[in-house]
Amino acid sequence: MTAYDPNNIFAKILRGEFPCYKVYEDDHALAFLDIMPRTPGHTLVIPKAPARNILDIEPEDFAHVARASRTVARAALQAFKADGITLQQFSEPAGGQVVFHLHMHVMPRHDGIALLPPASRKEDAKVLEDNATRLIAALKGA
Ligand code: 5GP
Repeated sequence: MTAYDPNNIFAKILRGEFPCYKVYEDDHALAFLDIMPRTPGHTLVIPKAPARNILDIEPEDFAHVARASRTVARAALQAFKADGITLQQFSEPAGGQVVFHLHMHVMPRHDGIALLPPASRKEDAKVLEDNATRLIAALKGA
């Protein structure tokens, strides 16, 4: 498998070299909004440890991502008055992966509303700011 590339965009976000709408952080994981959301509140949860995807991540690091994803999912359900949550993780191009630092997609879902296709459109900054504020508020109560 291809080696981890430390110049991927999520590694730059982790190092503070590129901005993000951060909603959650702990010692092992970071969560921020997807700038091309497939649903309002679409969030990405990533490990702080370098890992390309599910095929090379250490089990403990993936456990940290799972734990943070659960926290974000429960808060997102409340923040966006959602009816459900979809989690997705893509590994390697054949699996649909585009950014090569492991990430879990956490997508709030509403009954009868389909996901937008991936990377349909870049969301307005104001909408992303408002959604981050809502999610951060719900996470504080989690
Ligand atoms: P993948 O197909 O690799 O699982 O998904 C990559 C995701 O990263 C896509 O949902 C895409 O919208 C998102 N994305 C791509 N570039 C950026 C970026 O610069 N910032 C953020 N927050 N998300 C990004």
